[in-house]
Amino acid sequence: MVETMTQAYLPEPGTILYRQVERPTAAPGEVVIAVKRIGICGSDVHVFRGKHPLVSFPLVQGHEFSGLIHETGAGVEGFRKGDLVTVMPALGCGACDRCRSGLFAQCEGLRFIGGALPGAGSNYFAVEARYAVKMPAGVTEDDAAMVEPLAVAVHSVRKVPDLGGRPILVAGAGTVGQCIAQVARRHGAGTVVVADREPFRLAIARSMGFETLLADSPEAIEKRVTGLMEGRNPWAAFECVGAGVVLNGCIRAVERGGRIVVVGVYEEPPVTEMVLVQDKEILLAGSLMYTWEDYGAAVALLSDGDVDLAPLRTHHVPFEQWAEGYKILIEKTGESLKVLVDL
Ligand SMILES: [Zn+2]
Ligand SMILES: [Zn+2]
Repeated sequence: MVETMTQAYLPEPGTILYRQVERPTAAPGEVVIAVKRIGICGSDVHVFRGKHPLVSFPLVQGHEFSGLIHETGAGVEGFRKGDLVTVMPALGCGACDRCRSGLFAQCEGLRFIGGALPGAGSNYFAVEARYAVKMPAGVTEDDAAMVEPLAVAVHSVRKVPDLGGRPILVAGAGTVGQCIAQVARRHGAGTVVVADREPFRLAIARSMGFETLLADSPEAIEKRVTGLMEGRNPWAAFECVGAGVVLNGCIRAVERGGRIVVVGVYEEPPVTEMVLVQDKEILLAGSLMYTWEDYGAAVALLSDGDVDLAPLRTHHVPFEQWAEGYKILIEKTGESLKVLVDL
């Protein structure tokens, strides 16, 4: 008899339905994971709202998740039943120059679990064992499900190798922004100012020891940031919102010769103040995903206690109520941050 499991899928934007599908078994080289936690990410919300330019429906979401090894296929070593793992969801072609140098995020053939490939939104998930990442002792299921966004943060902070002792602006206090602030501090940044228009999210950043700036007008960042940095301008700004008004705030705020890392996903092409980018000799860098090195660094930050992600987790919803998680993020932006789906 074929064993089945429940899978959540989106037939179209704005709708999550459940269906019974065949439960996977581990093919040679694969592991089957009993999924425990799935994080809802800003990019998932873009997809849910039908605003992500690069995906097509129907699809199964879930790219930041954790679970327990349930079964290992022939030839798989290093995993035992019950091991807590997460998965690195970005699958490069493995053959091109970019993949061979470790920069699979730049691979032309990149496929993403929870994007073009089915995500973890089911009771069990089968994946090639080389993409499963075993958690060190002490890392929780909740933390393991947040390795992916933390790795995004590590990757973007590494775009500014010279931030030691210098003031840093993080524009956008969502999960990735909050992770960037914590990673930048571990990398030796000076004053870290976190800006957002939601006081609730700023309160979380403040509880983590960061200076905060309420971005309640388009000019708020440039007007107030130096006052929080002893009169200095930020050396680097991380744009974690994906909005032209925020990007331009960063462009006006940063020091001459400074850096801006674009991490947010833009729903619309922004009108950008390139006059100032040129005039101030700003280095503007995009940041997408991570490398394996970033993934390893994220796991180490968690297991060493160098970051604290618990304050970022504001809600848990049961698997059967996944859509409720989207509702919380879309309708209660002012009261939510990371929402985890529990299985
Ligand atoms: Zn994500
Ligand atoms: Zn490739």
